[in-house]
Amino acid sequence: MSEKYIKDKFLYEGKAKKLYTIKGSKDLLIQEFKDDATAFNALKKGTIENKGIINNEITAYIFNFLKKNGIKTHFVEKISDSEMVVKRLKIILIEVVVRNIAAGSLLKKTNFTEGKVLKDPIVEFYYKDDALGDPLINDSHALAMGIATESDMKTLKKMAEAINSLLKPFFKKRHLKLVDFKLEFGKDSKGKIMLGDEITPDTCRLWDDKTNEKLDKDRFRFDLGKVNESYVEVKKRICI
Ligand code: UDP
Repeated sequence: MSEKYIKDKFLYEGKAKKLYTIKGSKDLLIQEFKDDATAFNALKKGTIENKGIINNEITAYIFNFLKKNGIKTHFVEKISDSEMVVKRLKIILIEVVVRNIAAGSLLKKTNFTEGKVLKDPIVEFYYKDDALGDPLINDSHALAMGIATESDMKTLKKMAEAINSLLKPFFKKRHLKLVDFKLEFGKDSKGKIMLGDEITPDTCRLWDDKTNEKLDKDRFRFDLGKVNESYVEVKKRICI
């Protein structure tokens, strides 16, 4: 671990990451990636070998790329195999999903079959609430619950679309199709909205561009085998 940042107090443990405070800093946190994996609202639990190290490296690489391309993110720097320093954000309780190709839960809401290329990306909002099973919501629900303002919702949609426009060619260059992905945002101490969380095979569907082989968490969700191997392959293709 870097000498610059001294881990202080354990703050929070989520399904795939832990957060710690840093001695002498109010605005920064350490985000540590775990090997733990969950699916189906945590009904399925397991671990994926070296996932913490792989996802830390992938997130650092992608967030650096986004930062260079003008996207405000919480990423500061990678400080060890499985840890990065991030800006402390007040997380907005909305998961933003962007879809380019039909898969997953979209198949239960539409007449699309898996693999249908969407004419335009679909942006969806889910209310981050485990007890409710993260339900699909729209802008009116978010405003009514007071979890975001109208201007916040516009910013989330705009930023999600901008990130998709940057990531689609980024993955294409690496022979991966960006099928869909989930983003989380938060506000910094000045109230500015930034991308938080992670971008990894845990939070994206990524298919090989020639064979359509699934190279993401669906391998864990549906016991498709070669789970760790797929994460390693994605890391190799991304971090060039
Ligand atoms: N996703 C995620 N966390 C969630 C729900 C979804 O990272 O709690 C990601 C998922 O990996 C996929 C995209 O968001 O890349 C769309 O997921 P979908 O709505 O199809 O739900 P799922 O099929 O994963 O239940």
